[in-house]
Amino acid sequence: MYEMWAESDPAVEPSALMWHVVSKEDASTALCGQLLELSRRVVPGGLTEPTGVPDRYCDPCLLTVRDTMAAAGG
Ligand SMILES: [Zn+2]
Repeated sequence: MYEMWAESDPAVEPSALMWHVVSKEDASTALCGQLLELSRRVVPGGLTEPTGVPDRYCDPCLLTVRDTMAAAGG
């Protein structure tokens, strides 16, 4: 199973959330190979205020999920 992981991206101004996908089996690395640090995780609904900037989704992560779903036949 997969889990969504949101990080704030300091390289983007104003900062937008970047969503990665994490496998439950290996929660230290996103599907795209990005190392994930708990300290950088953003939990929506937490302390972050809405910035009006749309969330962004990691394309490599989403492609991996799509391919995996397709391979699983569903
Ligand atoms: Zn990713």
